[in-house]
Amino acid sequence: MESTPLLPLPEGMLIDRVQITEKGLVIALVATHPTSCCPLCSQPSSSIHSHYCRSLRDAPCAGRRVQLSLTCRKFYCRNPLCQRKVFTERFPDFVEPWARMTIRSCEQITCIGLATCGKGGARLAARLGIQTTRQTILRRIMGLPDASTGVILYLGIDDFSFRRGCHFGTILVNLESHRVVDLLPDREVETSAAWMRQQLDLMVVSRDRGGTYASAAALGAPQATQCADRFHLLKNLGEAVEDLLTRHLSASRKRQVEAALEEPTPAWQETRQPRCSRTPEEGLSLYQQDRLARYQQMLQLHEQGMTQGAIAQQIGVSLNTVQRWLVNGCPQTARGPYVSRLDPYLPYLFQRWAQGCHNIAQLFRELQARGYRGSYASVHDNIVRHLQFDGRKTKAASSSKPAPLPTPRQAAFVFLRRSEKLRTEEQETLVKLRHIDPDVDLAYGLVQQFAQMLRTRTAECLDAWLTQVQSSNLPELQSFATGIEKDKDAVKAGLAWWINNGVVEGQVTKLKLIKRQGYGRAGFPLLRKRVLHAL
Ligand SMILES: [Zn+2]
Repeated sequence: MESTPLLPLPEGMLIDRVQITEKGLVIALVATHPTSCCPLCSQPSSSIHSHYCRSLRDAPCAGRRVQLSLTCRKFYCRNPLCQRKVFTERFPDFVEPWARMTIRSCEQITCIGLATCGKGGARLAARLGIQTTRQTILRRIMGLPDASTGVILYLGIDDFSFRRGCHFGTILVNLESHRVVDLLPDREVETSAAWMRQQLDLMVVSRDRGGTYASAAALGAPQATQCADRFHLLKNLGEAVEDLLTRHLSASRKRQVEAALEEPTPAWQETRQPRCSRTPEEGLSLYQQDRLARYQQMLQLHEQGMTQGAIAQQIGVSLNTVQRWLVNGCPQTARGPYVSRLDPYLPYLFQRWAQGCHNIAQLFRELQARGYRGSYASVHDNIVRHLQFDGRKTKAASSSKPAPLPTPRQAAFVFLRRSEKLRTEEQETLVKLRHIDPDVDLAYGLVQQFAQMLRTRTAECLDAWLTQVQSSNLPELQSFATGIEKDKDAVKAGLAWWINNGVVEGQVTKLKLIKRQGYGRAGFPLLRKRVLHAL
Protein backbone atom coordinates (compact mmCIF):
# COMPACT_ATOMS: atom_id res chain seq x y z
CA MET A 1 0.00 0.00 0.00
CA GLU A 2 1.33 3.43 -0.99
CA SER A 3 1.49 6.59 1.06
CA THR A 4 -1.69 8.61 0.44
CA PRO A 5 -2.13 12.41 0.28
CA LEU A 6 -4.45 12.11 3.31
CA LEU A 7 -1.58 10.94 5.50
CA PRO A 8 1.64 12.75 4.58
CA LEU A 9 4.68 10.62 5.40
CA PRO A 10 8.42 11.16 5.00
CA GLU A 11 10.14 9.82 1.90
CA GLY A 12 10.69 6.06 2.04
CA MET A 13 7.90 5.32 4.52
CA LEU A 14 4.95 3.26 3.31
CA ILE A 15 1.55 2.33 4.69
CA ASP A 16 1.39 -1.42 5.18
CA ARG A 17 -2.17 -1.75 6.42
CA VAL A 18 -4.95 0.29 8.09
CA GLN A 19 -7.10 -1.14 10.83
CA ILE A 20 -10.23 0.53 12.19
CA THR A 21 -10.78 -0.20 15.86
CA GLU A 22 -13.16 1.14 18.52
CA LYS A 23 -10.53 3.63 19.64
CA GLY A 24 -9.66 4.90 16.17
CA LEU A 25 -7.24 4.02 13.38
CA VAL A 26 -4.19 1.81 13.76
CA ILE A 27 -1.87 2.35 10.80
CA ALA A 28 1.06 0.03 10.23
CA LEU A 29 4.01 1.78 8.56
CA VAL A 30 7.21 0.38 7.14
CA ALA A 31 10.45 2.33 6.65
CA THR A 32 11.93 1.34 3.30
CA HIS A 33 14.66 3.86 2.54
CA PRO A 34 17.69 1.80 1.46
CA THR A 35 20.20 3.77 3.53
CA SER A 36 20.30 5.75 6.77
CA CYS A 37 22.92 8.17 8.13
CA CYS A 38 24.77 7.53 11.38
CA PRO A 39 23.81 10.26 13.87
CA LEU A 40 27.41 10.49 15.12
CA CYS A 41 29.54 10.56 11.95
CA SER A 42 26.77 11.29 9.39
CA GLN A 43 28.06 8.50 7.10
CA PRO A 44 25.28 6.67 5.20
CA SER A 45 24.95 2.94 5.79
CA SER A 46 22.90 0.24 4.06
CA SER A 47 23.84 -2.64 6.41
CA ILE A 48 20.71 -3.55 8.32
CA HIS A 49 21.31 -4.92 11.81
CA SER A 50 17.72 -5.67 12.87
CA HIS A 51 14.09 -4.53 12.77
CA TYR A 52 11.96 -3.24 15.63
CA CYS A 53 8.53 -1.64 16.06
CA ARG A 54 7.80 1.89 17.38
CA SER A 55 4.35 2.85 18.55
CA LEU A 56 3.58 6.54 17.86
CA ARG A 57 0.54 8.75 18.41
CA ASP A 58 -0.22 10.88 15.37
CA ALA A 59 -2.53 13.83 14.61
CA PRO A 60 -6.19 12.71 14.47
CA CYS A 61 -7.80 11.87 11.15
CA ALA A 62 -11.38 13.19 10.73
CA GLY A 63 -11.87 13.16 14.49
CA ARG A 64 -10.48 9.63 14.93
CA ARG A 65 -7.44 8.94 17.04
CA VAL A 66 -4.51 7.70 14.97
CA GLN A 67 -1.97 5.23 16.32
CA LEU A 68 1.04 4.49 14.11
CA SER A 69 2.87 1.18 14.32
CA LEU A 70 6.17 1.95 12.61
CA THR A 71 8.52 -0.87 11.68
CA CYS A 72 11.99 0.69 11.51
CA ARG A 73 15.50 -0.63 11.48
CA LYS A 74 18.86 -0.58 13.17
CA PHE A 75 21.93 -0.14 10.94
CA TYR A 76 25.62 -0.93 11.33
CA CYS A 77 27.91 2.05 11.09
CA ARG A 78 30.71 0.93 8.75
CA ASN A 79 32.96 3.92 9.48
CA PRO A 80 35.98 2.44 11.28
CA LEU A 81 36.74 5.79 12.96
CA CYS A 82 33.24 6.11 14.43
CA GLN A 83 32.59 5.05 17.99
CA ARG A 84 28.99 4.07 17.23
CA LYS A 85 28.72 0.53 15.87
CA VAL A 86 24.93 0.23 15.62
CA PHE A 87 22.39 3.06 15.27
CA THR A 88 18.63 3.35 14.79
CA GLU A 89 17.35 5.11 11.71
CA ARG A 90 16.10 8.70 12.17
CA PHE A 91 13.12 10.56 10.66
CA PRO A 92 14.11 14.18 11.33
CA ASP A 93 10.93 16.06 10.29
CA PHE A 94 8.55 13.30 11.34
CA VAL A 95 9.42 12.13 14.84
CA GLU A 96 12.10 12.85 17.47
CA PRO A 97 14.49 9.91 18.24
CA TRP A 98 12.89 8.88 21.57
CA ALA A 99 9.45 10.41 21.18
CA ARG A 100 6.14 8.57 21.59
CA MET A 101 4.28 10.93 19.27
CA THR A 102 4.90 12.55 15.89
CA ILE A 103 6.13 16.13 15.61
CA ARG A 104 2.86 17.31 14.01
CA SER A 105 0.89 15.84 16.93
CA CYS A 106 3.21 17.66 19.37
CA GLU A 107 2.63 20.93 17.53
CA GLN A 108 -1.14 20.52 17.71
CA ILE A 109 -0.98 19.94 21.46
CA THR A 110 1.25 22.99 21.93
CA CYS A 111 -1.16 25.17 19.92
CA ILE A 112 -4.13 23.94 21.97
CA GLY A 113 -2.18 24.70 25.16
CA LEU A 114 -1.25 28.19 24.00
CA ALA A 115 -4.85 29.00 23.10
CA THR A 116 -6.41 27.56 26.26
CA CYS A 117 -4.73 26.27 29.42
CA GLY A 118 -3.56 22.96 30.92
CA LYS A 119 -6.83 21.41 32.07
CA GLY A 120 -9.04 23.15 29.51
CA GLY A 121 -6.58 22.18 26.78
CA ALA A 122 -6.73 18.50 27.77
CA ARG A 123 -10.55 18.60 27.63
CA LEU A 124 -10.53 20.29 24.21
CA ALA A 125 -7.90 17.87 22.88
CA ALA A 126 -10.04 14.90 23.93
CA ARG A 127 -12.96 16.33 21.92
CA LEU A 128 -10.67 16.70 18.90
CA GLY A 129 -9.47 13.10 19.08
CA ILE A 130 -6.06 13.91 20.59
CA GLN A 131 -5.03 11.90 23.61
CA THR A 132 -3.01 13.97 26.05
CA THR A 133 -2.87 15.22 29.64
CA ARG A 134 -2.61 18.67 31.17
CA GLN A 135 0.92 17.89 32.35
CA THR A 136 1.98 17.13 28.76
CA ILE A 137 0.42 20.36 27.52
CA LEU A 138 2.22 22.43 30.16
CA ARG A 139 5.49 20.61 29.50
CA ARG A 140 5.20 21.35 25.77
CA ILE A 141 4.65 25.06 26.45
CA MET A 142 7.53 25.25 28.91
CA GLY A 143 9.73 23.42 26.39
CA LEU A 144 9.23 26.07 23.70
CA PRO A 145 12.52 27.85 22.93
CA ASP A 146 12.73 31.62 23.50
CA ALA A 147 12.74 33.35 20.14
CA SER A 148 15.44 35.94 19.56
CA THR A 149 14.24 39.48 20.34
CA GLY A 150 16.00 40.78 17.22
CA VAL A 151 16.98 44.43 16.89
CA ILE A 152 14.75 46.68 18.95
CA LEU A 153 14.85 50.39 18.13
CA TYR A 154 11.58 51.55 19.70
CA LEU A 155 10.70 49.94 23.00
CA GLY A 156 7.42 50.32 24.88
CA ILE A 157 7.52 49.48 28.60
CA ASP A 158 4.74 49.33 31.17
CA ASP A 159 3.69 47.40 34.23
CA PHE A 160 0.92 44.83 34.69
CA SER A 161 -0.47 43.33 37.84
CA PHE A 162 -0.28 39.70 38.93
CA ARG A 163 -2.65 40.64 41.74
CA ARG A 164 -4.34 44.00 41.41
CA GLY A 165 -2.64 46.62 43.53
CA CYS A 166 -0.30 44.09 45.19
CA HIS A 167 2.22 42.48 42.89
CA PHE A 168 3.40 43.85 39.55
CA GLY A 169 5.49 42.68 36.60
CA THR A 170 6.88 44.48 33.56
CA ILE A 171 5.94 44.00 29.92
CA LEU A 172 8.28 45.02 27.08
CA VAL A 173 6.98 45.51 23.56
CA ASN A 174 8.73 46.19 20.25
CA LEU A 175 6.74 49.21 19.04
CA GLU A 176 7.60 48.53 15.38
CA SER A 177 6.65 44.85 15.18
CA HIS A 178 3.99 45.18 17.94
CA ARG A 179 5.34 41.93 19.47
CA VAL A 180 5.92 41.32 23.17
CA VAL A 181 9.67 40.81 23.47
CA ASP A 182 9.85 39.90 27.15
CA LEU A 183 8.15 39.84 30.53
CA LEU A 184 9.97 40.63 33.76
CA PRO A 185 8.83 39.26 37.13
CA ASP A 186 8.81 42.67 38.91
CA ARG A 187 8.93 46.40 38.20
CA GLU A 188 12.16 47.22 39.97
CA VAL A 189 14.49 49.76 38.38
CA GLU A 190 17.48 47.40 38.33
CA THR A 191 15.60 44.50 36.65
CA SER A 192 14.39 46.67 33.77
CA ALA A 193 17.75 48.46 33.49
CA ALA A 194 19.62 45.13 33.29
CA TRP A 195 17.34 44.03 30.47
CA MET A 196 17.82 47.30 28.56
CA ARG A 197 21.61 47.06 28.89
CA GLN A 198 21.53 44.02 26.61
CA GLN A 199 19.70 45.99 23.89
CA LEU A 200 22.46 48.08 22.38
CA ASP A 201 20.34 49.46 19.53
CA LEU A 202 17.62 51.03 21.62
CA MET A 203 16.79 54.49 20.26
CA VAL A 204 13.55 55.34 22.05
CA VAL A 205 11.95 54.11 25.25
CA SER A 206 8.24 54.92 25.54
CA ARG A 207 7.04 54.69 29.14
CA ASP A 208 4.42 55.94 31.60
CA ARG A 209 4.91 58.96 33.84
CA GLY A 210 6.13 56.93 36.82
CA GLY A 211 9.70 57.37 37.96
CA THR A 212 10.63 53.66 37.89
CA TYR A 213 10.88 53.18 34.14
CA ALA A 214 12.36 56.67 33.66
CA SER A 215 15.18 55.72 36.05
CA ALA A 216 15.55 52.28 34.45
CA ALA A 217 15.88 53.80 30.98
CA ALA A 218 18.39 56.38 32.24
CA LEU A 219 20.48 53.59 33.78
CA GLY A 220 20.07 50.83 31.20
CA ALA A 221 19.79 52.77 27.94
CA PRO A 222 21.28 56.25 28.46
CA GLN A 223 21.68 56.63 24.68
CA ALA A 224 17.90 56.27 24.12
CA THR A 225 15.43 59.14 24.06
CA GLN A 226 12.71 58.79 26.65
CA CYS A 227 9.16 59.44 25.58
CA ALA A 228 6.27 60.04 28.01
CA ASP A 229 3.13 58.28 26.84
CA ARG A 230 0.32 60.63 25.80
CA PHE A 231 -2.42 58.46 27.33
CA HIS A 232 -0.70 58.61 30.72
CA LEU A 233 -0.28 62.39 30.36
CA LEU A 234 -4.00 62.77 29.69
CA LYS A 235 -4.80 60.42 32.58
CA ASN A 236 -2.67 62.49 34.97
CA LEU A 237 -4.30 65.68 33.72
CA GLY A 238 -7.72 64.06 34.25
CA GLU A 239 -6.81 63.22 37.85
CA ALA A 240 -5.70 66.82 38.47
CA VAL A 241 -8.97 68.11 36.95
CA GLU A 242 -10.98 65.68 39.07
CA ASP A 243 -9.30 66.98 42.24
CA LEU A 244 -9.95 70.57 41.22
CA LEU A 245 -13.60 69.87 40.41
CA THR A 246 -14.10 67.89 43.62
CA ARG A 247 -13.07 70.98 45.57
CA HIS A 248 -15.35 73.34 43.64
CA LEU A 249 -18.31 70.98 43.35
CA SER A 250 -18.38 70.18 47.05
CA ALA A 251 -18.33 73.93 47.84
CA SER A 252 -21.16 74.44 45.35
CA ARG A 253 -23.18 71.53 46.82
CA LYS A 254 -22.74 72.94 50.28
CA ARG A 255 -24.21 76.24 49.11
CA GLN A 256 -27.16 74.39 47.48
CA VAL A 257 -27.91 72.38 50.64
CA GLU A 258 -27.78 75.49 52.81
CA ALA A 259 -30.24 77.16 50.47
CA ALA A 260 -32.51 74.07 50.49
CA LEU A 261 -32.55 73.83 54.29
CA GLU A 262 -33.65 77.44 54.57
CA GLU A 263 -36.83 76.66 52.57
CA PRO A 264 -40.18 76.23 54.50
CA THR A 265 -41.15 72.70 55.68
CA PRO A 266 -42.21 70.60 52.67
CA ALA A 267 -45.76 69.31 52.44
CA TRP A 268 -44.82 65.64 52.84
CA GLN A 269 -43.52 66.17 56.35
CA GLU A 270 -46.94 67.49 57.40
CA THR A 271 -48.92 64.67 55.77
CA ARG A 272 -46.73 62.14 57.56
CA GLN A 273 -47.60 63.32 61.10
CA PRO A 274 -51.25 62.16 61.71
CA ARG A 275 -50.38 58.48 61.21
CA CYS A 276 -48.95 58.04 64.69
CA SER A 277 -51.75 59.96 66.45
CA ARG A 278 -54.55 57.56 65.44
CA THR A 279 -56.47 55.64 68.19
CA PRO A 280 -55.74 51.89 68.30
CA GLU A 281 -59.10 50.92 66.74
CA GLU A 282 -58.70 53.39 63.89
CA GLY A 283 -55.40 51.88 62.96
CA LEU A 284 -56.76 48.29 62.80
CA SER A 285 -57.98 46.43 59.75
CA LEU A 286 -61.45 44.82 59.62
CA TYR A 287 -59.86 41.44 60.31
CA GLN A 288 -58.04 42.79 63.35
CA GLN A 289 -61.25 44.44 64.67
CA ASP A 290 -63.07 41.11 64.27
CA ARG A 291 -60.34 39.27 66.18
CA LEU A 292 -60.52 41.84 68.96
CA ALA A 293 -64.33 41.38 69.28
CA ARG A 294 -63.91 37.59 69.52
CA TYR A 295 -61.21 38.04 72.17
CA GLN A 296 -63.46 40.20 74.30
CA GLN A 297 -66.29 37.66 73.91
CA MET A 298 -63.89 34.89 74.98
CA LEU A 299 -62.96 36.78 78.16
CA GLN A 300 -66.68 37.12 79.10
CA LEU A 301 -67.37 33.40 78.50
CA HIS A 302 -64.27 32.41 80.44
CA GLU A 303 -65.41 34.51 83.42
CA GLN A 304 -68.77 32.70 83.25
CA GLY A 305 -66.85 29.42 83.78
CA MET A 306 -67.27 27.91 80.32
CA THR A 307 -64.65 25.29 79.34
CA GLN A 308 -61.98 26.21 76.80
CA GLY A 309 -63.30 23.73 74.21
CA ALA A 310 -66.83 25.12 74.48
CA ILE A 311 -65.54 28.70 74.17
CA ALA A 312 -63.62 27.73 71.04
CA GLN A 313 -66.78 26.28 69.48
CA GLN A 314 -68.89 29.22 70.60
CA ILE A 315 -66.74 32.01 69.19
CA GLY A 316 -65.42 30.11 66.16
CA VAL A 317 -61.68 29.88 66.82
CA SER A 318 -59.45 26.89 67.47
CA LEU A 319 -58.76 25.51 70.94
CA ASN A 320 -55.10 26.45 70.54
CA THR A 321 -56.05 30.06 69.90
CA VAL A 322 -58.19 30.17 73.03
CA GLN A 323 -55.36 28.72 75.10
CA ARG A 324 -52.84 31.19 73.60
CA TRP A 325 -55.16 34.17 74.17
CA LEU A 326 -55.68 33.15 77.80
CA VAL A 327 -51.91 32.98 78.36
CA ASN A 328 -50.62 35.86 76.20
CA GLY A 329 -53.64 38.07 75.60
CA CYS A 330 -54.83 39.13 72.15
CA PRO A 331 -52.10 40.53 69.91
CA GLN A 332 -54.34 43.34 68.68
CA THR A 333 -54.99 44.55 72.23
CA ALA A 334 -51.36 44.31 73.24
CA ARG A 335 -50.18 46.41 70.32
CA GLY A 336 -50.34 50.17 70.52
CA PRO A 337 -50.65 52.42 67.50
CA TYR A 338 -48.75 51.16 64.47
CA VAL A 339 -45.15 52.41 64.47
CA SER A 340 -42.90 51.50 61.56
CA ARG A 341 -39.25 50.71 62.24
CA LEU A 342 -38.50 53.45 59.76
CA ASP A 343 -40.42 56.16 61.63
CA PRO A 344 -37.55 57.26 63.89
CA TYR A 345 -35.32 57.67 60.83
CA LEU A 346 -37.78 59.62 58.68
CA PRO A 347 -36.44 63.09 59.58
CA TYR A 348 -32.95 62.02 58.56
CA LEU A 349 -34.30 60.45 55.34
CA PHE A 350 -36.18 63.63 54.45
CA GLN A 351 -33.14 65.75 55.18
CA ARG A 352 -30.85 63.66 52.95
CA TRP A 353 -33.44 63.74 50.17
CA ALA A 354 -33.55 67.51 50.41
CA GLN A 355 -29.74 67.59 50.22
CA GLY A 356 -29.94 65.95 46.80
CA CYS A 357 -29.19 62.31 47.66
CA HIS A 358 -31.80 60.45 45.56
CA ASN A 359 -30.01 57.10 45.51
CA ILE A 360 -32.29 54.77 47.50
CA ALA A 361 -29.63 52.07 47.98
CA GLN A 362 -27.24 54.71 49.33
CA LEU A 363 -29.92 56.07 51.70
CA PHE A 364 -30.67 52.53 52.88
CA ARG A 365 -26.99 51.93 53.68
CA GLU A 366 -26.79 55.24 55.53
CA LEU A 367 -29.87 54.35 57.60
CA GLN A 368 -28.40 50.93 58.42
CA ALA A 369 -25.25 52.63 59.61
CA ARG A 370 -27.48 54.66 61.94
CA GLY A 371 -29.05 51.54 63.42
CA TYR A 372 -32.08 50.98 61.14
CA ARG A 373 -32.92 47.25 61.13
CA GLY A 374 -35.94 47.31 58.81
CA SER A 375 -36.12 46.26 55.18
CA TYR A 376 -34.91 47.96 52.02
CA ALA A 377 -38.46 47.61 50.64
CA SER A 378 -39.80 49.75 53.48
CA VAL A 379 -37.32 52.55 52.69
CA HIS A 380 -38.10 52.26 49.00
CA ASP A 381 -41.89 52.35 49.57
CA ASN A 382 -41.68 55.35 51.85
CA ILE A 383 -39.60 57.27 49.34
CA VAL A 384 -41.93 56.42 46.47
CA ARG A 385 -45.02 57.24 48.55
CA HIS A 386 -43.85 60.43 50.17
CA LEU A 387 -40.84 61.89 48.45
CA GLN A 388 -40.84 60.99 44.78
CA PHE A 389 -44.61 61.32 44.49
CA ASP A 390 -44.41 64.65 46.22
CA GLY A 391 -41.62 65.61 43.83
CA ARG A 392 -43.83 64.81 40.82
CA LYS A 393 -46.72 66.76 42.24
CA THR A 394 -44.58 69.83 42.75
CA LYS A 395 -42.46 69.35 39.63
CA ALA A 396 -43.97 72.33 37.86
CA ALA A 397 -43.44 74.50 40.91
CA SER A 398 -39.86 73.32 41.42
CA SER A 399 -38.79 73.38 37.78
CA SER A 400 -36.78 76.50 38.48
CA LYS A 401 -34.71 74.45 40.99
CA PRO A 402 -31.22 73.65 39.66
CA ALA A 403 -30.67 70.06 38.38
CA PRO A 404 -28.19 67.97 40.44
CA LEU A 405 -24.52 68.61 39.69
CA PRO A 406 -22.45 65.84 38.07
CA THR A 407 -19.89 63.83 40.04
CA PRO A 408 -16.28 65.08 39.80
CA ARG A 409 -15.38 62.16 37.53
CA GLN A 410 -18.25 62.89 35.14
CA ALA A 411 -17.31 66.55 35.22
CA ALA A 412 -13.64 65.79 34.48
CA PHE A 413 -14.70 63.72 31.47
CA VAL A 414 -16.72 66.64 30.11
CA PHE A 415 -13.71 68.93 30.67
CA LEU A 416 -11.27 66.72 28.76
CA ARG A 417 -13.46 65.86 25.77
CA ARG A 418 -13.51 67.94 22.60
CA SER A 419 -16.42 70.36 22.97
CA GLU A 420 -17.77 69.45 19.50
CA LYS A 421 -18.03 65.79 20.56
CA LEU A 422 -20.15 66.52 23.65
CA ARG A 423 -23.81 65.53 23.63
CA THR A 424 -26.40 68.27 24.24
CA GLU A 425 -26.87 67.42 27.93
CA GLU A 426 -23.09 67.26 28.41
CA GLN A 427 -22.77 70.71 26.85
CA GLU A 428 -25.38 72.00 29.29
CA THR A 429 -23.42 70.42 32.14
CA LEU A 430 -20.24 72.08 30.87
CA VAL A 431 -21.87 75.53 30.79
CA LYS A 432 -23.16 74.97 34.32
CA LEU A 433 -19.73 73.87 35.55
CA ARG A 434 -18.00 76.86 34.03
CA HIS A 435 -20.42 79.15 35.84
CA ILE A 436 -19.66 77.66 39.26
CA ASP A 437 -16.54 79.74 39.72
CA PRO A 438 -14.21 81.90 37.55
CA ASP A 439 -11.36 79.54 38.51
CA VAL A 440 -13.23 76.55 37.01
CA ASP A 441 -13.77 78.51 33.81
CA LEU A 442 -10.06 79.36 33.65
CA ALA A 443 -9.14 75.71 34.33
CA TYR A 444 -11.38 74.59 31.46
CA GLY A 445 -9.51 76.85 29.04
CA LEU A 446 -6.13 75.52 30.20
CA VAL A 447 -7.22 71.88 30.10
CA GLN A 448 -8.53 72.25 26.56
CA GLN A 449 -5.26 73.93 25.48
CA PHE A 450 -3.25 70.98 26.82
CA ALA A 451 -5.61 68.42 25.27
CA GLN A 452 -5.26 70.26 21.95
CA MET A 453 -1.43 70.04 22.22
CA LEU A 454 -1.78 66.27 22.69
CA ARG A 455 -4.14 65.89 19.75
CA THR A 456 -2.14 68.02 17.30
CA ARG A 457 1.30 67.05 18.74
CA THR A 458 2.49 70.63 19.09
CA ALA A 459 5.17 70.50 21.77
CA GLU A 460 6.34 74.05 21.09
CA CYS A 461 3.36 75.53 22.99
CA LEU A 462 4.23 73.58 26.16
CA ASP A 463 6.47 76.23 27.78
CA ALA A 464 3.90 78.98 27.35
CA TRP A 465 1.22 76.69 28.80
CA LEU A 466 3.33 75.85 31.84
CA THR A 467 3.96 79.57 32.50
CA GLN A 468 0.23 80.26 32.28
CA VAL A 469 -0.59 77.50 34.77
CA GLN A 470 2.09 78.56 37.25
CA SER A 471 0.79 82.13 37.24
CA SER A 472 -2.83 80.99 37.80
CA ASN A 473 -4.49 80.25 41.13
CA LEU A 474 -5.16 76.57 40.47
CA PRO A 475 -3.10 74.40 42.86
CA GLU A 476 -4.18 71.09 41.28
CA LEU A 477 -3.06 72.10 37.79
CA GLN A 478 0.10 73.66 39.21
CA SER A 479 1.03 70.36 40.79
CA PHE A 480 0.45 68.63 37.43
CA ALA A 481 2.64 71.29 35.74
CA THR A 482 5.41 70.80 38.33
CA GLY A 483 5.40 67.07 37.47
CA ILE A 484 5.80 67.94 33.78
CA GLU A 485 8.67 70.36 34.52
CA LYS A 486 10.57 67.50 36.19
CA ASP A 487 10.11 65.25 33.14
CA LYS A 488 9.97 67.93 30.46
CA ASP A 489 12.17 66.37 27.76
CA ALA A 490 10.22 63.10 27.79
CA VAL A 491 6.89 64.97 27.76
CA LYS A 492 8.03 67.09 24.81
CA ALA A 493 9.10 63.93 22.96
CA GLY A 494 5.72 62.37 23.76
CA LEU A 495 3.91 65.45 22.47
CA ALA A 496 5.94 65.64 19.27
CA TRP A 497 6.53 62.01 18.16
CA TRP A 498 4.27 59.34 16.75
CA ILE A 499 5.34 56.97 19.51
CA ASN A 500 2.97 56.01 22.30
CA ASN A 501 2.19 53.07 24.54
CA GLY A 502 -1.15 52.14 22.96
CA VAL A 503 0.28 48.87 21.65
CA VAL A 504 1.65 48.07 25.11
CA GLU A 505 -1.74 48.68 26.70
CA GLY A 506 -3.30 46.34 24.11
CA GLN A 507 -0.74 43.65 24.93
CA VAL A 508 -1.45 44.09 28.65
CA THR A 509 -5.13 43.42 27.94
CA LYS A 510 -4.16 40.26 26.05
CA LEU A 511 -1.86 39.23 28.90
CA LYS A 512 -4.69 39.63 31.42
CA LEU A 513 -6.84 37.26 29.37
CA ILE A 514 -4.07 34.66 29.27
CA LYS A 515 -3.44 35.11 32.99
CA ARG A 516 -7.10 34.52 33.83
CA GLN A 517 -7.25 31.38 31.70
CA GLY A 518 -4.81 29.85 34.18
CA TYR A 519 -7.13 30.79 37.08
CA GLY A 520 -4.14 32.35 38.85
CA ARG A 521 -2.45 28.96 39.34
CA ALA A 522 0.18 29.43 36.63
CA GLY A 523 3.41 30.96 37.86
CA PHE A 524 5.47 33.64 36.15
CA PRO A 525 7.59 31.29 33.94
CA LEU A 526 4.50 29.72 32.36
CA LEU A 527 2.80 33.10 31.92
CA ARG A 528 5.95 34.44 30.23
CA LYS A 529 6.10 31.51 27.80
CA ARG A 530 2.44 31.80 26.95
CA VAL A 531 2.59 35.56 26.34
CA LEU A 532 5.77 35.37 24.26
CA HIS A 533 4.35 32.56 22.12
CA ALA A 534 0.76 33.84 22.11
CA LEU A 535 -1.09 32.91 18.92
ZN1 LIG B 1 29.03 6.53 12.69
